[in-house]
Amino acid sequence: MFDNAEGMVFRPPSEANSFILRVTIGCAHNRCTFCSMYRDVQFRARPLSEIEPIIQKTARYYPGIRRVFLADGDALVLSTDRLLAVIDLLKANFPKLSRISCYGGPLDILRKTPADLQLLKQAGMQLVYLGIESGDDEVLARVQKGVTSEQMIEAGQKIIAAGMKLSAMLVLGLGGRELSRQHAINSARVASAINPTMLSALTLMLHRGTPLRAEAEQGLFQPLSPYEFVLELKELVNSLDMHAPCIFRSNHVSNMLPLAGTLPDDKNSLLRQAEDALQLLKNQTRPTFNDDGPF
Ligand code: SF4
Repeated sequence: MFDNAEGMVFRPPSEANSFILRVTIGCAHNRCTFCSMYRDVQFRARPLSEIEPIIQKTARYYPGIRRVFLADGDALVLSTDRLLAVIDLLKANFPKLSRISCYGGPLDILRKTPADLQLLKQAGMQLVYLGIESGDDEVLARVQKGVTSEQMIEAGQKIIAAGMKLSAMLVLGLGGRELSRQHAINSARVASAINPTMLSALTLMLHRGTPLRAEAEQGLFQPLSPYEFVLELKELVNSLDMHAPCIFRSNHVSNMLPLAGTLPDDKNSLLRQAEDALQLLKNQTRPTFNDDGPF
């Protein structure tokens, strides 16, 4: 359930049953060339005076809420004091509250001290979603993620060190044909160094209105074919080297091949499934725009 409708509201699929509380509107970074989520929304932090009545009103209708997702794109951009104040309000209004989660931008995470993150964890922030997108510095720079792979590793490790769960996302195809292999290998390097609780591999969608789609239309970015998407996925899985259990998923609606398993134990099974899919897709070598409408 959503708290209001100022622009589009986004949340991870696993937060479908959570109360989506927008503590910010939009994304403070808002420059990633592939992302269309908050392009038409001016970023702003919502004051507590705006948030409190929304919590109170929601509690009147849904007092049994157990899970809350703090939106929009990077709630950790808020100061720790502000986040703790929001969490206090949530606890006061939802006695059965058991999980608070949010998206965390890597630079916002790096700005927090280990003590900040510990405080948030102790207050009830149990899960952070981190968009790694790519572990390759060339890809990260091209899509203007605004962070290096080393900073991404440091941010992810900080969340894990604070005792929170970390759900990380990668975007298959983000390097296009040109950088596909290094995107896969370096994404695996970064993901393995972080060893998140969950790792999802999504498939690039070239949304209208994004700079990356414009690059594709001009022939400056070559999207992958279905065969190449699965080849990249296989390369990624093959290069992953988790030292602790990590739930791996590539079963988002955007994906060519839905994989699910726990790494490292299921690695060989995932690779076999990818190889079987490659056999089926070997004739599908035309680039796919995976778009949301014709050019
Ligand atoms: S991908 Fe994330 S950080 Fe980048 S613009 Fe979109 S919401 Fe903001």
